[in-house]
Order: sequence, then C-alpha cells, then structure tokens
Amino acid sequence: MRAVTFTEFSSPPTIEDVPPPLLPAGGAVVRVAATGVCRSDWHAWSGHDDSVSLPHIPGHEFAGVIEEIDPAVPGFKKGDRVTAPFIFACGDCAHCRAGHTQVCPNQQQPGFDLKGSWAEYIAVTNAATNLVHLPDELDFDIAAGLGCRFGTAYHAVTVQGRVQPGETVAVIGCGGVGLSCVMIARAAGARVIAVDRAQSALDAAEKLGATPLYSDETTVARIHELGGAHVSIDALGARITATMAIESLRPKGRHVQVGLLLGEDANPPLPYGRAIALELELLGSHGLATSEYAALLSDVASGHLDLAGTVGTRIGFDDLPAALPAMNEPPRAGSFGITVAVL
Ligand SMILES: [Zn+2]
Ligand SMILES: [Zn+2]
Repeated sequence: MRAVTFTEFSSPPTIEDVPPPLLPAGGAVVRVAATGVCRSDWHAWSGHDDSVSLPHIPGHEFAGVIEEIDPAVPGFKKGDRVTAPFIFACGDCAHCRAGHTQVCPNQQQPGFDLKGSWAEYIAVTNAATNLVHLPDELDFDIAAGLGCRFGTAYHAVTVQGRVQPGETVAVIGCGGVGLSCVMIARAAGARVIAVDRAQSALDAAEKLGATPLYSDETTVARIHELGGAHVSIDALGARITATMAIESLRPKGRHVQVGLLLGEDANPPLPYGRAIALELELLGSHGLATSEYAALLSDVASGHLDLAGTVGTRIGFDDLPAALPAMNEPPRAGSFGITVAVL
C-alpha cells in the first residue's frame, strides 16, 4: 500500500510502498477514505513524542470502510463505514468497562506508538471497543475530524464541563479546539465569552455566537463584570491562559483544562487558594470516549451541531508529505476548519 513515511524526525516525509497492516486478533483493517492533518502529527514528526519509533507513518484522525475484520468482533462487518477515536483502548480494564476508554491505562495511539492513518489502510486494535459506525449521511471528510479536535471539545464541554443552558462559559484561546468549544457550548444553550489576542480568532468566535473579549490584564475583571464564568476552558494550554481561566470563575465554578501543558508550562503554579475558597472544580479533559460518539452523532443528525465549517481545506493524498513541514509556521489565528486529505 502507499503510505506517508518518515525515517528521521523533522526530515521531509515521502510516500512509500509498504506492506499493508496485518489483521490484529480482535481487530480490523480499515481502508482509509479521509484523514486529517493535526498539530499533534507535527509534534510526532518533530520528535516531541517519545512513543514514536522510526520509520513511522503519521495520522490519527480518519474515517473509512472496513476491509477486513476478525469474525469474532460483534456488530461490524466488511464494508461498514467507520471511524475511531485517536485513543485505541484495551476494552478490558475497569475504566474501559465503565465506558471511560479515553483514560484507559493500556491505550495505544495511531500515528504515535502505532502506525497511523496517512496510508491506504490502517489497523484498528480491539475493534469492538474502538470502532464507531458512521451514519450514511455523514461524509468521510467531516467524520475524519470528529475523533480528535471536535470530539475533544465535545467531551470537554458536555462531559467534563457539564455545561447547562443559561450558564456562562469562558473559552480562553480560540484556535481550532477553542472555536469548537464555542460552537458546542452555544449549542448547549450557554452564553459564551471568547478570549483571544488575534482579531481574526475573535471574529470567528463572534460568528459562532460568542461575546468576543480581547485578552489583556483586564480580561478577568471584565468577565466578572459580566457575572463571572460557571465554566472556564483553557483551550490553548499555557500557565497564563490556565490561570486566567481559573480566575474568571464564579464560586462553585468548573475549570476544564483542554490545551496540553508542555515544556516549561508542564507543571504551572495555579491559583489553588482560589480553588479552595470558592470550591472550584479543576478538571482535565483528554479526548473522547468511544461511548460518547452516539450523543455527538445524534446532535449532528438533529442539526443541533452543524459540522459543515469544521473542514477548512481538502487536499489529496499526494499533498500529505508537504503538510508536516508546512506546520513549522505557527497556526493561522481564527482558522476553524481542519485540513483533510481525501483518498
Ligand atoms: Zn488530532
Ligand atoms: Zn482499557
């Protein structure tokens, strides 16, 4: 099969002919129909992730058709349209059995410790746990982004943040994940205050129904003038944005940390005194449980969530190798849609 491959970190990837994946016991081989381009792919290619071994095939956001499946897997057959979250869980531990596949301690991730989806075929382990049926009316390119950016935002807002109608949600950082959080929180009936420094990001958030707020030293005070936030989301991932988010909360508020805290900001000092005095909840959020796709897909089917804008650019498979070096530049502020390769 054809696969995008790199043999050294940060060296230009190429398309190679490689053997297709073998069918894992209890698993499936999926013919990839669409696969997303994500900043996490760039981190893997840049050597920021210890789990990646060389040579490597990147890609963790995909949708396609089952080519081959272990006959022991119930509920799926060759030819089914499917996707999967970027976390392949074991299906067998206490957390998986409780439905929390996103925190499975035995998890593997395609495009990181497993070969990824920038290829004609990808192996999916523990298919009964990790495969998700796609409704016929949901296009592969839109479905490809669900398991990462949009699914992460959905889990953060609806499950971890437990956002209720009429609540105020402060979203700090309006890149792709932040704008997805804005859209999902608005659909949940919340008032959303969107904070960023880029006018294009604020414009995009306002178009999705948020009140835009330029980020500076007065931001927290201005959020409190608006009544304070019931839920705060740091969608960027930095000490300064996490602190701003927590300080924006009302008493009994819930902070959801979605943006990864990396490097110097990995263990930031945070306002724990405030968390005690106001009985705040500080919550992490990591991906999306396989079991949560049903609610997400039904919100899409009912028109409650409109995913039309979630794909920004469609490219061909041959364009994928150039997509990694292109991300050496920082992302364009306010760009909501992901780039998806259609095979
Ligand atoms: Zn991703
Ligand atoms: Zn597990």
